[in-house]
Amino acid sequence: MLELKNIKKSYKTGDFIQHALKGINLKFRKNEFVAVLGPSGSGKTTLLNIIGGLDRYDDGNLIINQKSTKYFKDRDWDSYRNNCIGFIFQSYNLINHMDILSNVEMGMTLSGISAKKRKQKAILVLKKVGLKEHMHKRPNQLSGGQMQRVAIARALANDPDIILADEPTGALDSKTSMQIMDLIKEIAKDKLVIMVTHNSDLANTYANRVIEMKDGEIISDSNPLKEKEEKDVYQIRKTRMNFFTALHLSLNNIRTKKGRTLLTAFASSIGIIGIALILSLANGFDEQIDLFEKNTLSALPITISKQSMNLDEDIMARQEETSINDSYPNIDYVIPIKNIEEKDVHNNVLTKDYVNYLDKINKDDVMGINYIYPMGLNILQKVDGKVKQIPTTNLNITTYPHSLEGKKSVIEERFDILAGRMPTSKEEVILEVDSKNQVSKNLLEVLGFTTDNNINFNDILNSQITLVLNKDYYQRLGNYYVPKQDLDSLYKNKDNLILNVVGIVRLKDDYPSMTEPGIYYSNDLQNYLIKMNKESDIVKAQKDADYNVMSGEKFDLTTKEGKDLKENILGYLGDDIEPSMIEIHPKDFSSKEKIVKYLDEYNEDKNEDDKIFYVDQAKLMSSLSNNIMDAITFVLVAFSSISLIVSCIMIGIIMYISVLERTKEIGILRSLGARKKDITRVFNAEIFIIGLTSGLIGIFITWLLLFPINSILFELTELENVAVMNPLHAIILITVSVILTLIGGWIPAKIASKKDPVIALRTE
Ligand code: ADP
Ligand code: MG
Repeated sequence: MLELKNIKKSYKTGDFIQHALKGINLKFRKNEFVAVLGPSGSGKTTLLNIIGGLDRYDDGNLIINQKSTKYFKDRDWDSYRNNCIGFIFQSYNLINHMDILSNVEMGMTLSGISAKKRKQKAILVLKKVGLKEHMHKRPNQLSGGQMQRVAIARALANDPDIILADEPTGALDSKTSMQIMDLIKEIAKDKLVIMVTHNSDLANTYANRVIEMKDGEIISDSNPLKEKEEKDVYQIRKTRMNFFTALHLSLNNIRTKKGRTLLTAFASSIGIIGIALILSLANGFDEQIDLFEKNTLSALPITISKQSMNLDEDIMARQEETSINDSYPNIDYVIPIKNIEEKDVHNNVLTKDYVNYLDKINKDDVMGINYIYPMGLNILQKVDGKVKQIPTTNLNITTYPHSLEGKKSVIEERFDILAGRMPTSKEEVILEVDSKNQVSKNLLEVLGFTTDNNINFNDILNSQITLVLNKDYYQRLGNYYVPKQDLDSLYKNKDNLILNVVGIVRLKDDYPSMTEPGIYYSNDLQNYLIKMNKESDIVKAQKDADYNVMSGEKFDLTTKEGKDLKENILGYLGDDIEPSMIEIHPKDFSSKEKIVKYLDEYNEDKNEDDKIFYVDQAKLMSSLSNNIMDAITFVLVAFSSISLIVSCIMIGIIMYISVLERTKEIGILRSLGARKKDITRVFNAEIFIIGLTSGLIGIFITWLLLFPINSILFELTELENVAVMNPLHAIILITVSVILTLIGGWIPAKIASKKDPVIALRTE
């Protein structure tokens, strides 16, 4: 069964070679209590360690079940230790950060026995050694004798065939020693117990075989085994520890040094915090820029003017002629380029047909379409009790985008209504103020105000504008038409339109302002004025004339210029001509694309001349570049990465210290049959916990920091919630933290697993 054949073992320290065992030959019975006696340094412990598979012999052979161990692999030794051998040490060798129960369970834990079974068995053996009540205590809460009983219980727990005890009573008083000896004697009833001692009394009293050693040799054996006395079979089961056991073990260990673990995790989380903050900020700025661009871009209408020019193509064509490739060249000459020519300008003929086409646009994409006619308004206003004709040139008095049925109007969407309401009839208008509630004095004069003082909303809402139709406003004078002079009677004319200001609006703060504040009237009023004015005498006269009926200026109708001039005057007077401009307000960023597509479709089967070109204002507006933001982010992330590397190294150092601290534990685990791999796992599990904690702390602290950061940014920029943590980034950073700490702890974990269990056990 267990046989040592000429076992030799020597230790080399420097040039000195210590022959600890000089050719030991021994055979053991399956069931006996063997005491090994001998003076200190005679090689007893070495012998026991070799029998227990904790140490390797140099020469000879150890035979277990007629099987040579010469070709045993590490794994085989681990399994052998785990389920054939139970060690009992002089210094008990319990794991201090685990309770008694876990200590006893450890061997079974390593062999992968289920938790329930483990507990049952552990309680059973603890009962046997009389310590069941103490099972939830820690080793340092027990007396020496009690600790040794725990060690015995642990040795018994996995039902080994062989118990190896190295001076189990060496540290105990004689009374306790005898109790322990009784217990071992009891065990020896059905096991092979090999006990090392230098107390010959104890050996002779309890053991049924005494072997004496001296200088690495057997000098006597009281009851040697005869040839072929017995043949027995030991069963060696494989051990395996799963990752969760390792995790559990590490958690226990970490619990005993919470402060240090938290501090380590916190220190190594600083890099994560740095990167998380930077990413959050970059992320937030990107979102803000996106939002801003979307608002801006969708708020800018697509405009179709009577004349358009494809600037992009033109600029490209002109640049191609240049011999200089770079912008901002360092040259001392000027380069002439081609002119923008008449043919580069396209005339959009905004026919009724086209207006009809626009009316059929998908209503879901459009917020409103504004048809702007070049018609002039004849406005009279009573200023300081005197009726005055108010000039409207350079004032923004125009139609508001005509809303599509059942739709919120552009005004309601993009403006705050500060007072009053939206107009509901053609006689109602609204006043727009700028972001500071300012309105130019010229525009206020239209409403009858000439004061320098602030004007109450209520006063504005009570103001009126008198609009005179062309038929009443102009009178004929020979071949010409001139405005009537008697403003008082004009003012009282029955066909005048009295417009009421019913609302005061202001552009919402996230929409870009494109025009001067102004007065807005409805398309209905515009249509009514055109309907009335196109029938007026002055328009009819102008249609037939080849000169300006108001100024007498002659038009050369053979040229395009002359025709255009006449058109303009007719438009001004309110003839039913084409709109001078059409503004299409997209509902949002994506609907703009669809509108553009719809407008392109109109042109598909048209001649070049009949095509209608639009200007996508949004496209012309230079988009804000994220490049600078990206570059800054990159640099900052690079810096924070350095701190991550530093924390990685720090984790390595801390883990190395932990390995040194836990050397004894490593030895114990190995003596219980833990594989090298299991030791690596224990440390990796610990590193994993630290890495995870550090990642979580990092993300949590970042999350906390985002509150003050956002409020500071709000103070500075008025942008709300700029810094936003992307959950994906958070997950990635936690993963990075775990991976980096694993890398940092990799070498210490390897060192731990490589530790010689014998030396590890000798460490205090
Ligand atoms: P015992 O247990 O009988 O007191 P040991 O088996 O511990 O003796 O040691 C036997 C001899 O081997 C001693 O001289 C000791 O110094 C030496 N020895 C044991 N282990 C080592 C080691 N790891 N390195 C060097 N010498 C050792
Ligand atoms: Mg010894």
